[in-house]
Amino acid sequence: MRPDWDSYFMKIAAAVSERSTCDRAFVGCVLVRDKRILTTGFNGSPAGQEHCDEAGHLMVDGHCVRTIHAETNALIQAALHGVSTRGATCYVTHFPCIHCTKALINAGIVRIVYGDSYRIDEHARAFLDTAGIDYAASTG
Ligand SMILES: [Zn+2]
Ligand SMILES: [Zn+2]
Repeated sequence: MRPDWDSYFMKIAAAVSERSTCDRAFVGCVLVRDKRILTTGFNGSPAGQEHCDEAGHLMVDGHCVRTIHAETNALIQAALHGVSTRGATCYVTHFPCIHCTKALINAGIVRIVYGDSYRIDEHARAFLDTAGIDYAASTG
């Protein structure tokens, strides 16, 4: 069966997540506008830094802080390459954390489709509601 657009981009986000270098969170993100991919991102170390799968995790207060989150990495790629994210949809394998949520809001993202609703940050949800950003779990 031919996938609808949301399913199509969620499958790509899942493929992107396989590039993650921190096995505490395999997350993939695809930013899309007008059915075109603007940028992608996965959980990974800053350029030139060691990866968790080589050097182990860098744990602070119970979190691995070595990596940049997938959604933030996708926004950074947009900045790096001069691509506006205004009006884009964020396809992401997991519900965004509070930090990525704030960045997505300010980057002009208007819609979020997420895969895994296992850990939904209630503060992030409140921020999205206030910002008027449409978000929904993927049905595909
Ligand atoms: Zn790690
Ligand atoms: Zn995040």
